[in-house]
Parts: sequence; C-alpha cells; structure tokens
Amino acid sequence: MNKFEQLGLEDNLLQAITDLGFETPSEVQEKAIPILLEQDKDLVALAQTGTGKTAAFGFPMIQKINVDSRTTQGLILSPTRELCLQITNDLKTYGKYYKGLNVTAIYGGASITDQAKQVKRGSQIIVATPGRMKDMISRRLVDISKIEYAVLDEADEMLNMGFHEDITDILSHTPEDKNTWLFSATMPREVASIAKKFMHSPLEITVGTKNQGSDSVSHEYYLVNTRDRYLALKRLADANPDIFSVIFCRTKRDTQKVAEKLIEDGYNAGALHGDLSQNQRDLVMKSFRNKQIQMLVATDVAARGIDVDDITHVINYQLPDEMETYTHRSGRTGRAGKTGVSMVIVSKSELRKIKSIERIIKKQFEKKEIPDGMQICEVQLMSLANKIHDTEINHEIDKYLDNINELFETATKEELIKKFFSVEFTRFFNYYQKSKDLNTEAQQSSERDGGGNDNSTRYFINVGRKDGYDWMSLKDFLRDTLELGKDDVFKVDVKDSFSFFNTETTLKEKVLAFFTDFKQNGRFVNVEVSEDKGRSRNRGKGRGGRRDDRRSGGRRDDKRSGKRRSDSRNGSGDRSERRGFDYSSRSRRSNSDSGSSNSGSSRPRRSRR
Ligand code: ADP
Ligand code: MG
Repeated sequence: MNKFEQLGLEDNLLQAITDLGFETPSEVQEKAIPILLEQDKDLVALAQTGTGKTAAFGFPMIQKINVDSRTTQGLILSPTRELCLQITNDLKTYGKYYKGLNVTAIYGGASITDQAKQVKRGSQIIVATPGRMKDMISRRLVDISKIEYAVLDEADEMLNMGFHEDITDILSHTPEDKNTWLFSATMPREVASIAKKFMHSPLEITVGTKNQGSDSVSHEYYLVNTRDRYLALKRLADANPDIFSVIFCRTKRDTQKVAEKLIEDGYNAGALHGDLSQNQRDLVMKSFRNKQIQMLVATDVAARGIDVDDITHVINYQLPDEMETYTHRSGRTGRAGKTGVSMVIVSKSELRKIKSIERIIKKQFEKKEIPDGMQICEVQLMSLANKIHDTEINHEIDKYLDNINELFETATKEELIKKFFSVEFTRFFNYYQKSKDLNTEAQQSSERDGGGNDNSTRYFINVGRKDGYDWMSLKDFLRDTLELGKDDVFKVDVKDSFSFFNTETTLKEKVLAFFTDFKQNGRFVNVEVSEDKGRSRNRGKGRGGRRDDRRSGGRRDDKRSGKRRSDSRNGSGDRSERRGFDYSSRSRRSNSDSGSSNSGSSRPRRSRR
C-alpha cells in the first residue's frame, strides 16, 4: 500500500497520482488530506509556496464531491488569474479518471458569457478570482448556495491585494454549514480575522518550509519607486563593498546606459550585450574574470556564456519578461560550493511577479530594505578598517616616514586613527547625509502615488499608437479587459509607444493586479502607476523604451556644465550620490572632477581582496 493510499485516497485518484509521478505525499498533504477526508471540519493550513497545497485540498475535494450531480459543490478562491488557471488545470489532471467531473475557471479578462456557459453545463467545482466571482454572483450567473466546501487559497495574498470585501461578499452567498479550508503562507491579523469570522473552530496545521533547488542562493527583493531604480542599485553596491556581480537589464539599451552611468559615478562597471563586437565582449569578459570589473551589466542573451564561479551577487535591475529566465539569472551566483545572493529591484506594480517567481523557484524571497546612507557609511567605514588592518606594509614609504612622523609628533594614536578615517568618512558622510529613504511600501503609498489631490490614479501603459491604439480604442480595450463600467477609464492619453490613463483610485489594486503577467500578441502589457499627474509633459519621443529610462537622461550634460541638476521632482541630495569610500586616487579625482571629467580614460581601480 503506497503512502497516498494510506492517507485514505481512492483508486481513481491513486491512478492519477501514479500518472503524475508523485511518490510520496508532501508534508502539508500528509497532514491535511486525512483530516479533510475524514472530518467535516474547517481547516487552517499554513504552508509556504511550493509545498503542494493544491493537491492537499484538491484530492479530498475531488474525492468528496458527487460527480453524478451537476450542482456546484466546491468553490476555490485564489488571488490571481494565473493561479486560478493553474489550480483548474491541476484539478482536472487529478480528477481525470472521474467521469463527469467538471472544473471551471472564473477570472477577469476573458468572456464572462463563456464562463457562465461552462458553469451552466454543471461544474461541481469552480475555481475563481474574487473580483470576477463577485461579478458573476451579482449577475446570477453562478449559484454557490449549495456548496459544501470553500477553499481560500493563498489567503494572505488575496487580502494583500485588497480582496477582503469581495471575499466577505462571496462567502455571504454560501451556506452556513459548509466546510472552509484556508491556506496561507503567513498568518497576518487580517487572515486571522477572516478565519475567525467565517470559520467554526478550525483545526490548524503548520508546515515547515520546504526548499527545493539550490540552497546556496538566497533571494531578496527591494521595493522602490521606478524612478529610484538606479539610486537603489548604487546603494546596494555601496552596501556591499566587495561586490562582484552581474546586473541584469531587459534591453541592450538599458544595459549600456546603466553601465555608462555606473562608470561615470566611479564604479568599476562594464556592459555586456549583443551590440558589442565579439572583440569588445571578450575584453569585457576578460576584465570581469580578472575582477577589474566588479559590476558587469548584461542582457540575458549576452550573459548566457558567463561561467565565472565566485560571483557574489546577481542583481535584477529589471525583472525578465519571462519569469523562467529568473532561474538562469540567479544561477550565475552560488556556484562551486559558494553562497550567493540574488537581488531584485522591484516597483510596486511588479510585486506580483515576485510571487510568480517564488512559485517557479519554489523558494521564498526575503523583502529587504534599501540601506540608508548612514548604514552604508558604517559598512564602508568598517570595510576600510578591515582593509587597512589586512594591508601588507609597503616599505617603499619608509624613506618618507621621518617627515610624516614629524608632522604627527604630538598626535596620539587615537587622534591619528580618528583623523585618518575622517578623511574618508566626512566625504562619504557628506554624500549620504541628505539622502532620502528609497524604500516604498506596497500598501501605504496609494495616497502618495495617486492622482494628486483627487481620488483618481494615473497609470502608465506600454502600448501606444505603434500598437494601433488611439484614445478611444485604448479606452475600450481597457474597459473591456478589466470589465469596468462606461466611465471608469478616463484621461486616456496615447503616445507613440506608451500611453497614460486614469481610473478611480479604488480600482488601483484591481488594475495593477490584472496587468501582472498579462500578455498580448506574445508581449507583456505592463501597467504602472504613473508619476505624471495628467498634466501633459514632454517625455521625449517614444522609442520603445520605458519611462524610467528616459527619466534619467541628461546627466552628462549636467555634469559638463559643472553643476548637477537638482531635479525638482526627486528634489533630494540623492541625485549626487557618488561611489563612496575609496582611498585610491580615483576618489580624490571624483571629488573634484565635476568640471573636467576624464570619464572613460584609464580609471584607477578599486583594490579587491
Ligand atoms: P503550492 O500551492 O503549495 O505553492 P503546488 O500545489 O502548486 O504548491 O505544488 C508545487 C509543485 O509540486 C507542483 O509542480 C506539483 O505538481 C508538485 N507536487 C505537489 N505534490 C507533490 C508530491 N507529493 N510529489 C511530487 N511533486 C508534488
Ligand atoms: Mg498554490
């Protein structure tokens, strides 16, 4: 008798499980399945992504429902369309030996009438996203008044996405005496309150993290405003003085641009992308291998051949278009028995993508804060102290020592140390003392980023005239795909390769959630909250690039003119953040070179240990 049989599963399921190649139940399956099969009870299960939750509720639900009836008996709510489809698929696979089993997916962005037809044919199980489900209920296209089992999958995520009200509403249409099974990775207060409100003395199970794949790489993400991406990158580099990294950008153009800016700002950086000649690429790779380049900015395609073992950090400056690519990127670090960190700089509208990646890599990301200026000062100071401590004395300086000693005759050791470090610290402190907090919060920022004083939010979308849209057709497209009312989309402003539009701020979560991983004609349609408040401002000619690229233009000119532009929108000293502590000659140069940059010529190198 195999392990799944011991859990009480019947033949039809066991056969499918064999077909799937599952050999042993995962921990959450082992704990949940017997309970759900044998007891008519509510259940709260805490388990991380990738622990096999779908089967944990899917197997018992399939076994318990009556496939001879056409009544809807099971409802599964999940946060996104993508997950909804995945669960539906999984359930169909698990239930393939049950003749007459109908599982229907209900989610926004597809025809509501088609979905209603499918339900009408007799779906015993409905897998739905809350928004569309609520819609279907209010239009009486589904009947969930007789369901016996309700699953809240990834409950914490659903609540994060603002579905609290929808869930409450949906559950109010279900019978009192059903069983509710709640699955969640974490148990924040909101989840606990949902459990309390809708569940009757639920059983609880908790499952330890199950990390498959390489444990040598840890994954971190940093939530910042799109316009702060580059500053965030610099902070991450400054907070890791011995960084030896590959930085991934999405396009050749961005790759080149980020590398150039890093070089300008005094970092040992280089670009690797397909527009370089083979010879140029070889040279860059050679410098990288020799560690003369600490930060290699690369496209995915160009980085394919990188086989360098001791890369400490992979930085996702932008997330890849295909989430699967993330695995290749992060696999560049943590090799040959070493550990590595894969960092993602992410904007609010991309936050959902982190979840998709977690599902793919079956590991959790840690949300980290971009270090503030003082933390960086401390790190750099200690790094300098350690380097000095470990430095081998060069006896060539002995012959000058008399003069130096004379100068410091009366200084105590303590004084001397303080003065020595102050040389570096003061300069660095001055760079960072006015620096702002780059971290942004997923939740609270809704007001800050919204459409100014009114209650509307302005968005940026990466389709425009080039894609055949004018304001009317774009408005129609948005209204139809998002299933919004006639006047819900307004101030549509179509440019060449991108556009802007507004909705009420209350619709913001819905809009952003919807356009995560949304593809049209094979291309990702990306929507972000825009800082453009609806005033028309010249953003330059669209060249297929992204907004944030254009933002940062003009620096070189500013530099040449001898002073830095203080960008009124960003309005902080951060603009002038420069590469920090370095006691090489370069730093002295960068301190005073604002008028006469020798950018590009032979650059003093950072010493690496
Ligand atoms: P979760 O919902 O907890 O994130 P999933 O249910 O999506 O996890 O399962 C993650 C992956 O693990 C899926 O590819 C699934 O097919 C696989 N899986 C689930 N249970 C088992 C098992 N008992 N043995 C092997 N693979 C499993
Ligand atoms: Mg799941």
